[in-house]
Amino acid sequence: MNEKILIIEDEEKMARFIELELRHEGYETGKCADGRSGLEEAESGQYALVLLDIMLPELNGLEVLRRLRRTSNVPVIMLTARDSVMDKVSGLDTGADDYITKPFAIEELLARIRLALRRRQAAGASPAGAAGKDPGMSDELCCGRLRLSESRHDVHYADSLIDLTAREFELLKVLLENKNVVLSRDTLLEKVWGFDYFGETNVVDVYIRYLRSKIDNVFGAAVIQTVRGVGYVIKDSDEQ
Ligand code: CA
Repeated sequence: MNEKILIIEDEEKMARFIELELRHEGYETGKCADGRSGLEEAESGQYALVLLDIMLPELNGLEVLRRLRRTSNVPVIMLTARDSVMDKVSGLDTGADDYITKPFAIEELLARIRLALRRRQAAGASPAGAAGKDPGMSDELCCGRLRLSESRHDVHYADSLIDLTAREFELLKVLLENKNVVLSRDTLLEKVWGFDYFGETNVVDVYIRYLRSKIDNVFGAAVIQTVRGVGYVIKDSDEQ
C-alpha cells in the first residue's frame, strides 16, 4: 500500500503543486485548507506523514501541531514562509520532525519526506533506541555531576531532576556521547535535527541557551563550553 501524506496548506496553488508532485512520486495524498479540518484529518490515523503550513486560517500550524501531538506521533514537516528562526524553533519544540522554508525546491521537500519516513520506521524498529549497546550495561552518560539515562529518558544534576524537552535531551545526549570532542554547529544540526541543513545554524545556539538556562544557570555550573568559531563541547572537569 502506498504511503499517504496529508497536506495542510491554505494557498491553493501551493497545495495543488505539492499534491501533484507527491502523486508523481507514488504517494497517496489528502488535502486540507484550514487548521481545524487539517487537525481532524491528521488525527484520523490514516496518514504516514503530515505537511503543515504555519500561517493557516481557523487554527494556525503551531496550534494544530500542539493539539495533534496529544494523540499522535505522525511525522510532521512544517512549511513556513516566515524566515523567522523562532517560528522554526517553536515548531521543532512543539514536536515537528522537520521544517522547510517556502519557497523550496520540490526535490528538497521530497528528500525531507523520505528522511522523516525512514527515521520513523527506524524508531519503530528499535524501541529501546539503544542500538549497539549491551542491554545489561548501564546506559548512563555522565560528566561530573550530570547524568543522563537513555532508558529512563531523564537527566539529573547531582540529585536534581532536570526537565528537558525531547530536542534538548537529544542535544545534551550527543554532546555527552562525544565528551571532550568539540562539535561544530553543522555536526550538531545533523546529529540532533537529522538533516543536512544549509543556512541558519543558530537554531543550535538557541538550544544551547535553553540547556544552559536549565543546567548552568540553575546549578552554577559551566557544563557546556563554547569554542569560539568552532562549536560546543562538554569536557570532563573536576570543578563540576
Ligand atoms: Ca498559509
